[in-house]
Amino acid sequence: MRHRVAASRVVSLSSTCLLAVFAVCLAGCVSAPAGGKAQPPSEPPLGVIDAHIHTNFGDKFFEQGQVMDSKAELAAEMKKYNVVGAVSMNHPGDAYADLSDLNIGQCVGLATTVDAQRLEADLASGRFRCIKIYLGYEHQYASDPNYEPAYRLAEKYKVPVVFHTGDTSNPKAKLKYADPLTIDEVAVDHPKVTFVLAHAGNPWIESTAEVAYKNPNVVIDGSAFLIGKLQDYLPETLETYVVKPLRWIFGYVNDPTKLMFGTDWPETEIGPYLEVFKRAIPKEHWKAVFHDNAARVYGFDRPTAAK
Ligand SMILES: [Zn+2]
Repeated sequence: MRHRVAASRVVSLSSTCLLAVFAVCLAGCVSAPAGGKAQPPSEPPLGVIDAHIHTNFGDKFFEQGQVMDSKAELAAEMKKYNVVGAVSMNHPGDAYADLSDLNIGQCVGLATTVDAQRLEADLASGRFRCIKIYLGYEHQYASDPNYEPAYRLAEKYKVPVVFHTGDTSNPKAKLKYADPLTIDEVAVDHPKVTFVLAHAGNPWIESTAEVAYKNPNVVIDGSAFLIGKLQDYLPETLETYVVKPLRWIFGYVNDPTKLMFGTDWPETEIGPYLEVFKRAIPKEHWKAVFHDNAARVYGFDRPTAAK
């Protein structure tokens, strides 16, 4: 799955100029320790959960995200950025992969029609932490009766349902099905199921924020607002298309338990997206947004998974 073409957002400047501008940002925006000064008694490092990644592992360089799409690369990034867990979004038909050595949970992906028997067996196995529905890519509304068995089973097995919402990478997808406002209906009709709006419905963030504000059972992941190598973007591009919208969503929803950090790796490297995301969230809420909310929603506090 892909979301947004990085190059279209990069303003054309000479590479020297671009580098110079970016160097200013690096100096000013990234919280680096001041040169050589002793740090105050340190807070424990922030353990991060990435609530939205993909683990199909093509084992080659992934052009769109500008990272190696391999388990070794993912493990290295997780270690480097203190990512202590992650949630992998599978597509319909993807086989279960046991990545519990990296504390990665799996969502089972659904197609247009739901094989309720198979889904129940998958959920009963304890291997899956969530259900993923690709609205837009699947030409079907969240409220379609075809998905009712999934919601019934989500309630029974106490797993959240994650919807792709917002922009799609595939021109054959139909955006009306991925409109975050359409989730209000299923959220009301299934009050005991937790629903996750992946990508915060970007660019329809106002609808997303309202649906999450109004419905106690709706939360948001803020993955993939931009993809590709974030170091190649102008600082104002990152500010306009990532920081400001996430900050606005967080403020409007007015509930720090409702927004989760996610990247959509390998669409982008984890660390740079994490740094930009942090700029949108007041520091006192980092633990909630970058760890606790995903831990609660995806049950990282309960044991998983059979092999
Ligand atoms: Zn994704």
